[in-house]
Amino acid sequence: MDYKKSQDLFVEAEKFIPGGVNSPVRACKSVGCTPLFIARAKGSHIYDVDGNDFLDYVGSWGPMILGHAHPAVMDSVKAALAEGTSYGAPTEREVEMARMIVDAVPNIDLVRMVNSGTEATMSALRLARGFTGRDIIVKFDGCYHGHADTLLVQSGSGVATLGIPGSPGVPQDIVKNTVSLPYNDITAFSDFMAKRGDEAAAVIVEPVAGNMGVVTPARGFLEAIRKLTREHGTLFIFDEVITGFRLSYGGAQRLFNIQPDLTCLGKIIGGGLPVGAYGGREDIMRRMAPDGDVYQAGTLSGNPLAMAAGLATLKALKQEGIYEELEAKSARFWDGMEDIVRESELSLCLNRLGSMGTLFFTQDPVTDFRSAMAADRDKYSEFYQGMLARSIYLAPSPFEATFVSLAHTDEEIDRTLEAVRQTLRSMV
Ligand code: PMP
Repeated sequence: MDYKKSQDLFVEAEKFIPGGVNSPVRACKSVGCTPLFIARAKGSHIYDVDGNDFLDYVGSWGPMILGHAHPAVMDSVKAALAEGTSYGAPTEREVEMARMIVDAVPNIDLVRMVNSGTEATMSALRLARGFTGRDIIVKFDGCYHGHADTLLVQSGSGVATLGIPGSPGVPQDIVKNTVSLPYNDITAFSDFMAKRGDEAAAVIVEPVAGNMGVVTPARGFLEAIRKLTREHGTLFIFDEVITGFRLSYGGAQRLFNIQPDLTCLGKIIGGGLPVGAYGGREDIMRRMAPDGDVYQAGTLSGNPLAMAAGLATLKALKQEGIYEELEAKSARFWDGMEDIVRESELSLCLNRLGSMGTLFFTQDPVTDFRSAMAADRDKYSEFYQGMLARSIYLAPSPFEATFVSLAHTDEEIDRTLEAVRQTLRSMV
């Protein structure tokens, strides 16, 4: 396969953009490659500037659940585009979007649109702190909630207690109020809450972790958080930026029947345009300005093009039988993967739920950040490169999710499984 144009563009990009990319993982460093520059995408296919055609399992890191350039989404955006791109004033589409989110997500009474997942979590945490009058935020090792200072706490192995900055430029003073605990460890969480629960403004969690690779919540983990946060007057925030409208139309909270106080959304609700949202219990959300005193704003929030793309996506997802269809495709993919893992001589661990999953190159179960970090990065690089050579586009990092979309056909899924089988065989 020829990547010459991508390689030339990367050389050019590095002259003007730090690392040549606008988001670090895209540089493909951890898989020993340089990035492909994408020219276009349609359905389950993504095409680079050299004309190579790949089956895409990244889906822009989650939003493209319908596949790329879905006709209804394109038509909706085109119709909005003809009316102008931004007004900085309320529009009917924002009302429709809010109503659709409130109808869909069980624990959202009111919702505010923002422009990214980072903005959603950052704003939800400010609200939680404002509402409770407390400073401490609890997160879990290996969960990613965007790049806001408060949340960029290094997630070291073992029991991380008081946060230290995960990046130069993040003041110690800020992250001293962030506590990171091991994911899925009910005892560590209970111990913390017993000691400091009354100081905690909020606990934020990815209900199914997608940013250390996919890690599903252990039985009782989310329930324990819900119970203890309620007892201590701490708000429970579900970061459903990935899981929202993916694990079900009502997200992970509907699937697991857990009632978070606040929920963060992003990705799918923007249909591939820059969108985030946070919402939740009415008494909490009414604290937001201008109803209340907690400030948050945005020039482009509720942007008409983004609302048009998001609305068309949600309407498509709302149709009868769509999640059953996604589940059938996902089962075909992940069941096939399980068979391959069983037959393989390599040390592999497959974590999956619905349309999201991760193949880890490790022999032990992956249940938290520490076990995820034990996975063999070199082996993943080899796998990534082998899959790319077989025209399958995966995330360029061992600690990300693989997403099945509604655009993947059975034939494409079977072709992908054959590529996995061949690649893994070549690695033994
Ligand atoms: N929360 C989660 C769970 C995410 O996966 C991400 C991004 N991958 C974010 C928040 C941040 O979203 P964004 O990149 O849109 O700022």
